Amino acid sequence: MTDEKKTFEHDPFVAAFPETRAFWEAAADGRLMLPVCEDCGRAHWYPRALCPLCGSEKLRWTPASGRGTVHAFSPARRAEPQYVLAYVTLDEGPTLMTNLVGAPIDAWSIGQVVQVRFQPSTEGRMMPFFGPVTG
Ligand SMILES: [Zn+2]
Repeated sequence: MTDEKKTFEHDPFVAAFPETRAFWEAAADGRLMLPVCEDCGRAHWYPRALCPLCGSEKLRWTPASGRGTVHAFSPARRAEPQYVLAYVTLDEGPTLMTNLVGAPIDAWSIGQVVQVRFQPSTEGRMMPFFGPVTG
């Protein structure tokens, strides 16, 4: 890693989904951002050009708490390394598909409160995974 600000200009995923760019830029700094609609006031996931709840184009990137609860999860026990695929419902409302990290594979439960932990993907983007609440 360098101190140079990651711009995502040459990232093929971001090029294919430019509406996600602000999300990845914030994630590189360890900040979770959500698109919030200025017309209906609700957050949604994943990022889109229009609010999926009311159709408005007036969307604003807003800092999220990074807190949520486990809605569902599935441990991939035979994978190497093992991982836990999950849906986490953020305190702001939207539900994300993610991975649970930072605890043994059998340590999770539905309804458990978790907080975001960014970890690098193999492509270099910082991914919002979730782990136990600390502190
Ligand atoms: Zn809306």
